[in-house]
Amino acid sequence: MAAATSASVKIARRGLMLVISSPSGAGKSTIARTLLDIDKQISLSVSVTTRARRQSEIEGVHYRFVSQREFERMRDSDSLLEWAEVHGNFYGTPREAVETAMGEGRDMLFDIDWQGAQQLQEKMSADVVSIFILPPTMAELQSRLHRRAEDSEDVIQTRLANSKAEISHWREYDYVIVNDDLNTAFDAVQSIVKAERLRRDRRHGLFDFVETLVS
Ligand code: 5GP
Repeated sequence: MAAATSASVKIARRGLMLVISSPSGAGKSTIARTLLDIDKQISLSVSVTTRARRQSEIEGVHYRFVSQREFERMRDSDSLLEWAEVHGNFYGTPREAVETAMGEGRDMLFDIDWQGAQQLQEKMSADVVSIFILPPTMAELQSRLHRRAEDSEDVIQTRLANSKAEISHWREYDYVIVNDDLNTAFDAVQSIVKAERLRRDRRHGLFDFVETLVS
């Protein structure tokens, strides 16, 4: 009789906190959205923001849009894991959703700026994997911001002016990707996620599994 094929091996691991930062217009949000569509093991940390909602955005999906007062209430009651002022608006990561996901070993994606990345790195460095996305040229960054056509000229100019300061933090990230081709950049992000999920120190179930092999 043929030997029974083995059931697929599942090894428990801790969830990873995938942080993606870039200057506005470098393609971070497109990459993040594609990853969330394709990879069902990862979910988005939905930030709160005091910024006005763009037409294409949905409350609770892209952000939770809150008043300045509500933001301050959340910040002062320690409900935010990190927060920052970016381009004149406030943004923050609600703590509870992250703690629940991490407790259940699920992966989370954070589309946050360098200030938020620093704070998560300080608080939860063992679980954080950080990626910085660079544009191929500053001219391309500018034309992408205009092509998006969702922000006023004033807002675009503020974002462009701030982009060099954002880029100056590239060294603080584990991985750096130049997005001159979206598919190639996305493949790189997927490879990072695949490899990081296999890291020995993230897979606490390995100990028991190896015991079943050698005992
Ligand atoms: P946007 O207004 O284009 O959606 O976002 C502006 C910037 O704020 C982006 O760089 C985005 O990654 C960042 N951002 C969004 N949510 C958060 C957050 O919760 N915390 C921090 N620190 N930055 C955020």
